[in-house]
Amino acid sequence: MFCLHCGKEITDEAAVCVHCGRQVKPIQKTSTRQPDPEESSTATKVVLASVGSVVGILGLLILIFAIQSFIAAANEFDSDDRFAFLAMMAIPGILLCALSVSLFKRAFRRG
Ligand SMILES: [Zn+2]
Repeated sequence: MFCLHCGKEITDEAAVCVHCGRQVKPIQKTSTRQPDPEESSTATKVVLASVGSVVGILGLLILIFAIQSFIAAANEFDSDDRFAFLAMMAIPGILLCALSVSLFKRAFRRG
């Protein structure tokens, strides 16, 4: 090929002209940053954060309802039944809160 600057013939592999010393083609970057396949797009992050907050609020509401019912039913039911009800309601509530936390972690993993 020929140098773009001085027009003299140089080897095709040359990055710099041997005659005028100027750069004839962009220097190949040794480490090109590949886009992280794990990196989620902004839209995905927004969806994850939205779902995470809804799930988290739902989980907290279930927990509050469970504790409130546990206290309110103090005079109406045996303590065994109340504890069974509390456990039955608290487990999905805690699971939803944990799911919410994991969704938020995924949404904000890369800052
Ligand atoms: Zn040249």
